Amino acid sequence: MISTEETLLGKSLEELTYWAQQQGQPAYRGKQLHQWLYQKGARSLEEIHIFPKTWREKLKNYPVGRSKIKYRTISQDNTRKYLLSLDDGLIIEVVGIPTTKRLTVCVSSQVGCPMACNFCATGKGGYDRNLKAHEIVDQVLTVQKDFQRRVSHVVFMGMGEPLLNFEAVISAIKILNQDMQISQRSLTISTVGLPQKIIKLANQHLQVTFAISLHASNQALREKLIPSASSYPIKQLLEDCRKYVEITRRRITFEYILLEGVNNFSYHAIELANKLRGFQSHVNLIPYNPIEGANYQRPSQDKTQTFVNILKQQKIAVSIRYSRGLEANAACGQLRYSDSF
Ligand code: SAH
Repeated sequence: MISTEETLLGKSLEELTYWAQQQGQPAYRGKQLHQWLYQKGARSLEEIHIFPKTWREKLKNYPVGRSKIKYRTISQDNTRKYLLSLDDGLIIEVVGIPTTKRLTVCVSSQVGCPMACNFCATGKGGYDRNLKAHEIVDQVLTVQKDFQRRVSHVVFMGMGEPLLNFEAVISAIKILNQDMQISQRSLTISTVGLPQKIIKLANQHLQVTFAISLHASNQALREKLIPSASSYPIKQLLEDCRKYVEITRRRITFEYILLEGVNNFSYHAIELANKLRGFQSHVNLIPYNPIEGANYQRPSQDKTQTFVNILKQQKIAVSIRYSRGLEANAACGQLRYSDSF
C-alpha cells in the first residue's frame, strides 16, 4: 500500500516544489504540478501535457493518490453517490449534493465506522481502517470533476467518525482550505463526540463549522441509540462543548435525528431546550432516513413541526435538514457500500 508521504496528492506547494527539484526539474514544475493536482484534478502525471514527454514517460506509474470510481448513482434531484475503490481495494462512499448556489460534498473519514449507532447503516456495516488525508481530498476532487463545477462546501458526514481519525482529518482540512481554496467556514466536522477530542479540536483554532450528533435529550436515551455515549456522559459532552465555544468563539450545531415514538415527544423538545439554554448553538433536526435492519420510523411532518415549534417557543435556533438523495440510498446514515449493488 502507498503511504501519504509517497503520493503526490496531499503534498503542499513547497513539498511538490522540493519533489520536482529532486527529480531534476526546475522549481516552477512544482507550482504547475500543484495546479494540475488541486485545480484540474489530474489523475496521473501522464496527462499533464505541459510536462516534458520524457519525464512524463518516466513517471507514468508514479503514485498520484487518486481512487477509482467503481460505481455512481444519480438520484432525481441530481444528488450523486459514488463508490470509490482505494489503493488497497477497500471501498468508500462519497456524495455530491448540488443546489443553485452550492456544491456540497459529503466525505467519508474512515472505511466503515466503529461507533455502531443503531440507526445508522454505516455503523451496522463494521469498520476497516482510517482514511489518509489524501484519500479524503481525493473524494472532493472526484466530485468536483464529475459535476464540472467548483465544490463550495465539504461536510465530514459520510462514513466514519472524523474525531477518531484526528490527524488525517485536520490535515485534509488544511489542504481543502489552502490548496483547494475552500473557506474554512464552508467545512463542517460532524462528530458523535469523544472524550478529550472536542477540546483538542478547539485548540486547533480553526474556523470550521462544528456539529455534534446529540440525538437525545437525556443520558439514558442517548445510551440506547449510541453505544459510546455510556463512556461520555451528556453532561461532560456539553461542558466540553461550552469550552469549545469559549476557545473558538464559534457556535455549535447540535444534530438531532427524529425517531418516531423514541425521541420526538414534546417533553424531549423541552428537555433539549433546557439543556441548551444560554448556549451559542443551533439545533439541526434530521428526520430519520430508513435503513435496513433498524426498526425505526420517521415522524410525520406535523409531529416534526410540533417539535420545531416547541424549540422555537423555548428560544432555541432550529432548522430541519431535508435529506437529499434518499432514493439513491445517499442520504444521512444510509451509506454502506454493499447496499448499492
Ligand atoms: N460520525 C459522525 C458523522 C456521521 S454522519 C457523526 O456521528 O456525527 C452524519 C449524521 O447523520 C449524523 O448526525 C448521524 O447521526 C446521522 N444519521 C445516521 N444515520 C441516520 C439515519 N438513518 N437517518 C438520518 N440521519 C442519520
